[in-house]
Order: sequence, then structure tokens, then C-alpha cells
Amino acid sequence: MNDKYEAVIGLEVHAQLLTETKIFCGCSTKFGNAPNTNVCPVCLGHPGVLPVLNKKVVEFSVLMGLATNCKINEKSIFARKHYFYPDLPKNFQISQYEEPICENGFIPIELKDGSKKNIRIKRIHMEEDAGKSIHDQGDNTLIDLNRTGTPLIEIVSEPDINSPEEAYLYLTKLKQILTYLNICDGNMEEGSLRCDANVSVRLKGETKLGTKTEVKNMNSFRNVEKALEYEIERQIDLLEDGKEVIQQTLLWDADANIAYPMRTKEEAHDYRYFPEPDLMPVVVTEEWKNEILSKMPELPDAKKERFINQYNLPKYDAEILTSSRELADYYEKILSVTKDYKAASNWVMTEVLKVINEEKISINEFPISAENLGKLIELINKNIISGKIAKEIFSEMLKSNKDPEEIVKEKNLIQITDTTEIESIVDKVLMQNQKQVEEYLSGKEKVWGFFIGQIMRETKGKANPQIVNDILKNKFEMIKDSK
Ligand code: ADP
Ligand code: MG
Ligand code: ZN
Repeated sequence: MNDKYEAVIGLEVHAQLLTETKIFCGCSTKFGNAPNTNVCPVCLGHPGVLPVLNKKVVEFSVLMGLATNCKINEKSIFARKHYFYPDLPKNFQISQYEEPICENGFIPIELKDGSKKNIRIKRIHMEEDAGKSIHDQGDNTLIDLNRTGTPLIEIVSEPDINSPEEAYLYLTKLKQILTYLNICDGNMEEGSLRCDANVSVRLKGETKLGTKTEVKNMNSFRNVEKALEYEIERQIDLLEDGKEVIQQTLLWDADANIAYPMRTKEEAHDYRYFPEPDLMPVVVTEEWKNEILSKMPELPDAKKERFINQYNLPKYDAEILTSSRELADYYEKILSVTKDYKAASNWVMTEVLKVINEEKISINEFPISAENLGKLIELINKNIISGKIAKEIFSEMLKSNKDPEEIVKEKNLIQITDTTEIESIVDKVLMQNQKQVEEYLSGKEKVWGFFIGQIMRETKGKANPQIVNDILKNKFEMIKDSK
């Protein structure tokens, strides 16, 4: 990027709320049912029907507002936003316009250099989703209205984001908060989280905002980042050529790696907003707000700090372990069995996450219970098994989630800590490998590993490695002395 310029970015994020029913009727929000089966006269917009607001939608919105440091407006109102599109049966969307439910918050992000930056939230408002147009079925466009009336919140940031990377960090944090609150599943590929990016550029030091464009149609955080990189370059090139940026909406094409303008007719909008006459203003009393606040779970940043302080974990560990609420819960469950915080963290961050990433499963689907993993760690710490054997038991547990103590008994895997037994094995190995003994004595230290390997083979990996090392060292000293 040309460093004379600075990018200015504001994001509008739509999050589908995880309510059982739609925002203004009792229809199910379940995904994947046969097309046009989760519908009723209200969400189909038949004449004469009356919307009834779903209380959960208000609670979820307030929860999100509180979690992002917003002011919760005691009174907010719904408004009709008019536009014509086949998947919008009423020809207007019920949204909020002049008086949204939450305003003036912020989300802190941590930049690469460790410094913190607050991205201000301009507003969060409630609205209903439209239906789905299906264009890939031959010549006809098909309409599925199951999604019509699914509750959304739109979270609008101030233009405080100054790079594609900051946009990525902001979105990651936003999603983390939504999923911690359990109000949205945060799945961008499936459309339950959507992001429109407003972007402009200006010369550094300039205080006036430049003309912005809006980029849509990104289906992953990485694509948001890439689309922003593309659009920032394009705008800078225009300005460098003495041309102007035209305010318009662009669609990101992830395959071609370019953003192209939407046909201008499609975005010549006058939404003719006016207050929704069929819905009362939403009133969130101080009492209700406090009741919602009392359900607030521990949020990601607070949990991370607690993990660092309470469990003495490095920041790096705490960040990964608190990346999702479920993973953090899994980690803390292990601690009900073992107090070796760091060992528990190591097992989760390496072995557990490796399996989860490879199998593309969530921690909730991970076959080993936290309790059994805790027991495994205790078996190592009590010197009953070696770390190497523990890895084997871990593989076994992946298949059966059996109690590791049982596996140890069944397979006779208890670590050999009896020094006389180990000593006799060491003697045997040295006896059988005279050539390597000579090599070692003549300075070829690499052979050490060979001896350890042989001894471990003799004991099927069960010998305590520390004791093996000590005894082997002793033996060689004795041999050297006797020469
Ligand atoms: P509009 O009325 O065009 O929708 P808004 O004021 O509602 O514009 O802002 C929409 C989003 O665009 C917000 O996230 C805001 O931060 C962002 N935004 C506004 N102006 C600019 C600009 N000049 N450059 C980048 N982003 C902007
Ligand atoms: Mg807008
Ligand atoms: Zn309905």
C-alpha cells in the first residue's frame, strides 16, 4: 500500500440470532426444512396480519449491547424499510432506523504489536431477515421463504478501522463475543454472520473522510480482508491517477479476486423509512436491563485475564484456550481432576487441538472426556506411566474414551521405576552391543540415543526415562573408570 495514504473502514455486520422462533411470529427458525414450510400469514406478509415481537430478540440484543459497552436505549422503535425484491413478500423489511436499541459502544482489539485499540460501535439494531432466492436451478429463480422473519441484529461500527488486518481482528472479536453469549452461531460460510465493508482512503493527516464504497458478498473473514486490500489499492490508484472515487456498491468475487460494481439501478435506494405502525415502541426498563445483565457470562477478554492470573498461564496459552467458550470449559473441567495447569494446557493445545483440527470436529464432539484427560495427566505426574506411554494411552482413549487407569491395568503399562530391574536391562543392552559401546567411548556421542532406544524397546517403552538416563550415565562412568 502506498504509504502516503490511510484506509478508513466501517463494518456493518448482520448476525442471525439463535432464537427458536422468528422475530414477529411463532414459526420455527430451524435451518434445512423443506422450502416454504416454516411460514405463516405473518411472515408471508398477508394483508391484515399483525406482528408480535419475540421477547428473546430484545434480550439477545440488549445482551450484545451490554457486552460491547453500548448505551441501551430505554425506548427504541421499529421502522419500515421499503424496497422491492422477490424474496421480500411484504415489500418492506421491519428494521430500526432513528431510534435503535443500542448505541455508542466499543469493542477493544489487540494489534500485532500488543497495543490496544477501541473500535467504536455506532449502533446495534434489530430487524427481520428476508427470504432466499435460489438462482442455480435452471432458468427459473426459486424463492424459499423459510428464512423470512428470522431475527437479525445489525452491528454498525464507526469508521475507526484503518487496515484490512484490523478489520479481521475486529470481526474475530465480534464473533467471539456473539458465540460466548450464545446468541449467534457465527458461521459466515452459512450466512448466519454477514459483513458489508465500507471503505475509503485519504491522505495521511487529512481529517475529512474520503468518498466511500461498500463491498459486499464476502463469505469468510479472510475474504473480507482480501476484498478490503483489493478495494484500498483500487481507490489509491484512482486518486494517484487524478481521478475520483465514485460512491457505489461493489460485489466481491472470491474466485476472480476482484470486486465489481453492482448495476447502479439496483442500488438507487430510497427506502422511505417510517415508524412501524403495528408495533409499540420497545421499552427496556432499568429492571429488565439488570435482569438481562445478570445472565451475562464471563466474556472472552475477562476469561483470558483470569486464566493468566489464576492458572499462571502464558498469554499465548490463555488466548488459545479462551478462543471459544466450549474449549475454555473443557480446559477448566480437566482442572477438576489435576492441578497441573500448564500440563493440562499443553495437552489441550497440542494433542487435543491437533485431533480437532484434523477431524474438523468441535470440542463438544471430541471423544475424550475432560475428566479422563485429567486422570491421564495425573498418571504421568504420579510417575505411574511415562510421557511416551501416555501418548499411546491417549490414542487408545480416542477410540474408546476408557478410563486411562483401566487401560494401564489391562495392558500392563505401569512404568518401570524399579532401578534393579532397569539396571539389569541396561547391562544386557550394553553387553549385546559392544561395538556401539566402543564407539561411544571413543567420543561418538550420537550413539547415546541408540542405547536409549534399545533399552526402551526391551521395556516396551515402560522404563522411566529419567532413571534410564541416570543408570546409563553411571554405567559408562564405571566402564571409563575401569579402563
Ligand atoms: P450510509 O448512510 O451510507 O449507510 P452510514 O453513516 O450509515 O452510511 O455508515 C455506514 C457504515 O459506513 C458505518 O460502518 C460507517 O462507519 C461507515 N462509513 C461512513 N462513512 C465512511 C467513509 N467515508 N469511509 C469509510 N467508512 C465509512
Ligand atoms: Mg447504512
Ligand atoms: Zn411465520
